[in-house]
Amino acid sequence: MTAPKRLFIRTYGCQMNVYDSDRMADVLRPLGYALADRPDDADLVVVNTCHIREHASEKVYSELGRLRDVKLERRAAGRDLTIAVAGCVAQAEGEEIVKRQPAVDIVVGPQAYHRLPELLAEAARKQAVLRAGKRLPGAGVLDTDFPADSKFDHLPGPQGVRAGSAFLSIQEGCDKFCTFCVVPYTRGSEYSRPAAAVLAEARQLVAAGAIEITLLGQNVNAYHGEARDGSTWSLARLIRELAEVEGVARIRYTTSHPRDMDDELIAAHGAVPQLMPYLHLPVQSGSDRILEAMNRRHGRDLFLSIVERLRNVRPDLALSSDFIVGFPGESDADFDDTMRLIDQVGLAAAFSFKYSRRPGTPGSAMPDQVPEAVKTARLAALQALIAEQSRAFNASKAGQTVPVLFAEPGRRPGQIIGKTPWLQSVHADGPPRLIGRIVDVRLTAAHPNSLAGEVALVDDRAEAA
Ligand code: SAM
Ligand code: SF4
Repeated sequence: MTAPKRLFIRTYGCQMNVYDSDRMADVLRPLGYALADRPDDADLVVVNTCHIREHASEKVYSELGRLRDVKLERRAAGRDLTIAVAGCVAQAEGEEIVKRQPAVDIVVGPQAYHRLPELLAEAARKQAVLRAGKRLPGAGVLDTDFPADSKFDHLPGPQGVRAGSAFLSIQEGCDKFCTFCVVPYTRGSEYSRPAAAVLAEARQLVAAGAIEITLLGQNVNAYHGEARDGSTWSLARLIRELAEVEGVARIRYTTSHPRDMDDELIAAHGAVPQLMPYLHLPVQSGSDRILEAMNRRHGRDLFLSIVERLRNVRPDLALSSDFIVGFPGESDADFDDTMRLIDQVGLAAAFSFKYSRRPGTPGSAMPDQVPEAVKTARLAALQALIAEQSRAFNASKAGQTVPVLFAEPGRRPGQIIGKTPWLQSVHADGPPRLIGRIVDVRLTAAHPNSLAGEVALVDDRAEAA
């Protein structure tokens, strides 16, 4: 019997990449690859990359340098390590990756990873030739196509679910072309999966143990999937149908664009009980001038009116957002507008970034790039305000008993960690058998980034009956 092959996947970036990494593991499982915990134990390492900010792509090259060293040690011992680079850096930089790091065997874009088995076979053929000639670089096999047929038509069904919660990718790519963003170039134009395929995958996920499903897309609320009867389903319609799938207790979706928050989707927040009262709605800036320069296609007032309408139908809705500080031309007054917007809305959480110049995007060629020191100061001020709001939001829940979906063991023995409907982390003492289940928890104390809680009595006999 041959030893099973081992696969290690390092994932950078967003939830879409986490989903893609899981699907790459699904594609490789039939070839005999089981997951390894460390790159040093693996025969194949996939680095699933993110290109959104400069810092994110540079990390990839340091990782590849470390992997080259492992590969050289292996070869000295008569074995091999295959290195594959996937994701948005693979798409954006293609052959350049192999030039910068010749140890790389495979470069595969986000729309082509269903072809990994063929690419591995080709890499193995090339490796054999290279070894015969006593040369030791990687095979350098490239596939960064946007194939006409979707990868989703070729992927096997999802194989496993971690602790009751699963991602389900329903939409990819983006046609919005915000002037700071690489996504339209790395992920291609907008594509929505057919509604029946999404629902079929949701049923498979439930059968594999999911009770929470997070619908994913770069611009998820632009979803417009073809239904069996030839009509087009919006995200709101898809959510309503997903809520009918037995076993789906929680639904979330991310990432949305304010421009695509239509009336039907806003209404779904009030009408679908499984749709969790938490929405990540990136606004990027509170200044109309900057929003226009970013080509966001909405102003400050539209964002505020969406928030108001959402809160009218779902008063306990918590919001998070994304912000970029130091976009070209951002003045102190523009930044103050952003701070005022945050004050006005009140957020539960947010991701915030210094503007990062991305080659090929219109923003990188704009005049009036903001000095690094100014970006640093603005980011610190914005993050301090968000931290204050997160603390206040967590404190507002202390004393309540809320349903928590437990997801993982905590650091302390006997501790488990889960999520409230508002995506807050909760630490509580409880047995591991509660992981993957939704349990009532009394929130006893609020911390800046989490809450402490006590598990209410769980009646296993009642649940089994
Ligand atoms: N589609 C989402 C939207 O419309 O807001 C966001 C997708 S992007 C993967 C996630 C976040 O990265 C963005 O919301 C933005 O805040 C940030 N981001 C994107 N490009 C950036 C850049 N060049 N510099 C800094 N942050 C950036
Ligand atoms: Fe990038 Fe989002 Fe803008 Fe699309 S909508 S270009 S993904 S920031």
